[in-house]
Amino acid sequence: MAVTSRTLQLIRAMRTAVGGYADDTVRDLAAQWVAAWDRLAPTWVQAVDVLVAWALAHGRWPTPVELARVEPLQQALAATDDALDELEAATTAAVIAAADLAITATVAAEPDVIASQLPSPYRQDTRERVASAILPTVLDVIRNRVTQQITVQTRPLSVDASAAIRRELVRGVELGSNPTDIARRAVAAVNGAFDGGLQRAANIARTEVLDAHRTAARYAHDANADLLDGWVWLATVTGASAVRTCPSCWAMHGTVHDLDEAGPLDHQQGRCARAPKTKPWRALGIDLDEPADQTPDRQAAFDALTDQQQAAVLGAARLALLRAARIDWSDLAVTRDNPAWRTSYVPRPLRDLNRIADQRR
Ligand SMILES: [Zn+2]
Repeated sequence: MAVTSRTLQLIRAMRTAVGGYADDTVRDLAAQWVAAWDRLAPTWVQAVDVLVAWALAHGRWPTPVELARVEPLQQALAATDDALDELEAATTAAVIAAADLAITATVAAEPDVIASQLPSPYRQDTRERVASAILPTVLDVIRNRVTQQITVQTRPLSVDASAAIRRELVRGVELGSNPTDIARRAVAAVNGAFDGGLQRAANIARTEVLDAHRTAARYAHDANADLLDGWVWLATVTGASAVRTCPSCWAMHGTVHDLDEAGPLDHQQGRCARAPKTKPWRALGIDLDEPADQTPDRQAAFDALTDQQQAAVLGAARLALLRAARIDWSDLAVTRDNPAWRTSYVPRPLRDLNRIADQRR
């Protein structure tokens, strides 16, 4: 019940650590992508020179069949496919390793997070009790499931980037009179498609590492159901980053959920946290008055923003509806199914909010 400033501090530290694992992975993968392209670039410059000479001689870009006959191009594609296969394997390994660190950090922190909500004489016992309820065998099952999930996400990386490069080559570039300029644009197009793989890999890293953290937290909470009443969705609603929190996460902040409910199911690359909510002290046999809960109040946090900041968060139209009480905070978030990923809460489209407001008139 009594989320303390210490609880919030511990949760923030845990989320920062987990975010750091994801960021480190993204940085590491970006470096690998750049190094791989540096190795491939000379091969592509050569291949594209041949291609541009052909195109200028014929006055048009080659057809797919003609492209297939350009030997240096086929060599560049083969080398690129090999590099992409290696990058895909490196991505899978790096994201699995980071997810593993996230799980370890989460189960290490949760006993403190829960104990911080109780009076200090009870904390040490609670910490030990919470920690001993988190079973290594179950964590192994979670790690295996996370590994599988990451592998499913990363598997199409190489094939998709390779296909994107081939599409660029078939599309070709507009011919001008300057061969150097044509070649530069053609190499840039291939490089762009190659880097598309990195964008995907980075998104997978950020999303999967955070989801591994959430899965571990959910288990740690569920295993300690005798101490807990549920979990609270914490978004960033205070401090300098509050203006970057989306309407959906603002709407979900402070909502209480069942322990067995996954989450917070924020959108991809979301940064919301799951705070365990301990039972009232007296329900736990502690005969003391509880201090007030320190979870930032959503309305108070929003009211603390300037008009300009409020409009930046919600957009002018949403803000007007909310201020006129024609919609509630709870209207601002809606779940969206994603067959390739998972269900998540996203901002409800303005069109739907207008319909809701009209119906309530
Ligand atoms: Zn959000």
